[in-house]
Amino acid sequence: MIKWQCSVCGYIHDGDEAPDKCPKCGAPKEKFIKMEEQAASLVERARFSNNLHMELLTLMERAKEICDKGIKDELDPGCVAVFKTSMAAAHEVQQKVKAELKTHMNKGKWG
Ligand SMILES: [Zn+2]
Repeated sequence: MIKWQCSVCGYIHDGDEAPDKCPKCGAPKEKFIKMEEQAASLVERARFSNNLHMELLTLMERAKEICDKGIKDELDPGCVAVFKTSMAAAHEVQQKVKAELKTHMNKGKWG
């Protein structure tokens, strides 16, 4: 799909034409630059991976909520131990995802 990037804030618009103004910063249509086809396809590729990362981040948040309930339930020490180690593992996954997304952003693999 054809993409236009706001030269002021970096917002990427999908469409045959640039928007009348930037939805993020309000810059006028003239501030949008049509992305090269290869750059636009890299954006599509990065979106897919970034979405997977964000889905994993959300899923781990849900896992932490479940672990928290299990820890508070305190049925027995074995249960609590499983929930505590799982909580730590979910948090570690989240931190790894965030670090990876940060490298994507630094490399411009975002949009
Ligand atoms: Zn903008």
